[in-house]
Amino acid sequence: DHLSNKIAAGEVVERPASVVKELVENAIDANSRVIRVDVEEGGLTSIRVLDDGDGIESDDLETAFDRHATSKIKYDQDLFRIKTLGFRGEALPSIASVSKLLIKTSTGHQEGYEMTLEGGRITHRNSTAPRKGTEVVVSDLFFNTPARLKYLKTIHTELGHISDVLNRMALSHPDVSFILTHNEKVLLQTMGNGDLKRVIAAIYGSSVAKKLIEVSAESLDFTVKGFIAKPEITRSNRSYMSTILNGRYVRNYPLMKSIQQGYHTLLPIGKFPLAVLHIDMNPILLDVNVHPSKLEVRISKEAQLQELVATMIQDAFKQVQL
Ligand code: ADP
Ligand code: MG
Repeated sequence: DHLSNKIAAGEVVERPASVVKELVENAIDANSRVIRVDVEEGGLTSIRVLDDGDGIESDDLETAFDRHATSKIKYDQDLFRIKTLGFRGEALPSIASVSKLLIKTSTGHQEGYEMTLEGGRITHRNSTAPRKGTEVVVSDLFFNTPARLKYLKTIHTELGHISDVLNRMALSHPDVSFILTHNEKVLLQTMGNGDLKRVIAAIYGSSVAKKLIEVSAESLDFTVKGFIAKPEITRSNRSYMSTILNGRYVRNYPLMKSIQQGYHTLLPIGKFPLAVLHIDMNPILLDVNVHPSKLEVRISKEAQLQELVATMIQDAFKQVQL
């Protein structure tokens, strides 16, 4: 119902960047190859996410806006082997409940469908031309929750958060092409050819990309691969350590600590390294159902993984000239 959707929105939709994150996650889960995000005025006026993914069947379109309606989990035990980014079935109903939303979607096989909602209520539904994929436009975010609207920061700050979300998505999915525009200006564009180094270059610049060392390591339970920057590239905060677990960007302090341990004495006090690591494991070892934002996870055999990461980085520095 509308009230519980609005309550859930309080947890899921904190700011424009949360809308972008949820919509892009849906696009990735739908096997999209190209995902385009156009925002106006830091996302406060409008957020548009266009993908070329699987689309939604006509019969499922209204259901997608029901709370806890997810096509991604069918059995209880699926919760313990999650491969998709979404699984809670909360994002679309939550976003719709606090905005004006337009969705156009087609599986490409038959005609497309479009639907508009206002504050979670369907206001219009029609068939449209078939174009495989989904387009969601979210306008006037928080128009019916003035207190939340008031709490938002400047356009500049909100745009910064949106940029962070797209950067993380691009680092997590080098095989998907991302485009981010703000007021029609292109802020990020990636190739989608699987080349992680080029994604890092697109985000952090080519001078950083020249100082990267490729790393990889494997144990019975974990596969780690990615890039670390030489210690001369330092940062004053932890946000340049990206850990991507089974394709999901997460914040995990134990893992960041093990990256720093890998650099050992090579970093000045108070400085942090730049690293992008993809870590894959059996989903049963990864509990992602910790928080609605899904940014926090719990890892089984965490100490073993920490050891693997720290040793991998130490070994890499033994082999390269610094
Ligand atoms: P969840 O992602 O947790 O399943 P959401 O509320 O984000 O829940 O989305 C509800 C459902 O709508 C999804 O399970 C999926 O079936 C469908 N859906 C949403 N966005 C897309 C998209 N871009 N392409 C295809 N299907 C989508
Ligand atoms: Mg989702």
